[in-house]
Amino acid sequence: MKNTILYSALCLAFLFFSCEDNEILDEELVSDDSEYGLAEARHARSFVRNNDFESPIDFNQPAGRQATWIKQGYQLNSGLFEWSNNIGSGHSGGVRIETVGGVQNDLAITQMLSLNPTKFYRLSAWVKTVNVIGGAGANVCIWDTWTRSSGLWGTQDWQKISVEFVPPASGELAIGCRLGYWAGVSSGTVYFDDVIIEEVPKFVKSSTHIQLILDEEDAAAVKKQTIKNWMANLDRAYEKYYELMGSYPYNGQTITIQSVDVYPGGWAVAGNPILWYKPYIKDELLNTEATGSWSFGILHELAHDFALDNANRSWIWHEEMFANFRMYYVAEGLNPPITQGKTYIGAEIKNFYMTDADDSYAKGIALGIPRGQNGLMYTLIRIKDQTGWQPFIDAIRDLNASSVSPATNIERFNLFLDKLSQYSGTNVRDTYLPGELNTIQQLLGQ
Ligand SMILES: [Zn+2]
Repeated sequence: MKNTILYSALCLAFLFFSCEDNEILDEELVSDDSEYGLAEARHARSFVRNNDFESPIDFNQPAGRQATWIKQGYQLNSGLFEWSNNIGSGHSGGVRIETVGGVQNDLAITQMLSLNPTKFYRLSAWVKTVNVIGGAGANVCIWDTWTRSSGLWGTQDWQKISVEFVPPASGELAIGCRLGYWAGVSSGTVYFDDVIIEEVPKFVKSSTHIQLILDEEDAAAVKKQTIKNWMANLDRAYEKYYELMGSYPYNGQTITIQSVDVYPGGWAVAGNPILWYKPYIKDELLNTEATGSWSFGILHELAHDFALDNANRSWIWHEEMFANFRMYYVAEGLNPPITQGKTYIGAEIKNFYMTDADDSYAKGIALGIPRGQNGLMYTLIRIKDQTGWQPFIDAIRDLNASSVSPATNIERFNLFLDKLSQYSGTNVRDTYLPGELNTIQQLLGQ
């Protein structure tokens, strides 16, 4: 596609690009300028070389140092790669990728880029599909990562697909126009044209373990130092979670916390990225600035991330409760202010579970009413106050590494008490008052 609208979009992307941020890209591009007129060269400087596929590509030649696009894939020999000057959108230059003989495959053309790791980008491309079946379909991606656009399947006319991303710390990455994916192989034919990278104005900040991606207006609501301090505190919380759990989630990759405009299913939703619903962000940051709170919600989601992807989780009877219990380890260990209704300092947040929450211990289990994971969690804190944390650390690691899968929540609860008794050398059931374990059985049996 070569038209005025596209040209404007590219130039806009170029304007966003700050040269002083990325000298490497400029150097790499010099060698390609000869392929273009001056205007085209400026196109190309919107990050992607030969982005509109108007220059020939010979996929049968070994990829040399000057290669713009190269072919990559799972079963490369079962893939067909073709450049032609009339198969793109609007009969311009384009690229075709086809799986041969209906073999489910993962095929891509990729290009190495050097981008600014403190910026947020959108990668997009125009794509057309013919009989695409299965897996991840036609997509654009950051090669060697799980970052990809949603897929296109079936037979569909030209349309634009896109994915947003922050480059890795090195800034070095490869973008891909792809059919299929790791663990998502597809078959069919796909055409690509007009691959564009635009910088999207976002607040992007990285600390040791955390990357924060917010709308600039939300980040600007508080002092830069507020966010910096908060992220340093989240790093400390992350290390505490590790201390408790004994392993890092997502192979120790930085955890991204990202503002999302579309309701993700909660105030925020765990994972990597942790999705944080935009309408709540500014108020939470303002509260952090006012109270020093480390953010109950974000600590909670980070705690979920430590319900490790590589561990047995079948012994956990209530992950919402356990996320808060992990957070309590951080609260005791690091003494943070945490706002939950009101602002508690460190271990004071025990009061939330003991008396303050609607389903606290005092309002449920203590009255013989089978109500409340928050109250149940208080009874675990009560055990901890007797035994210290070590039996919990031992029990959690033991169960994480096991293959136990109790059938009911009551069995899971009892297994946990057994393990705590084993590792503490005491009968932790003695910490329960008469009748409480009965009430808890009812609660867990509901
Ligand atoms: Zn949760």
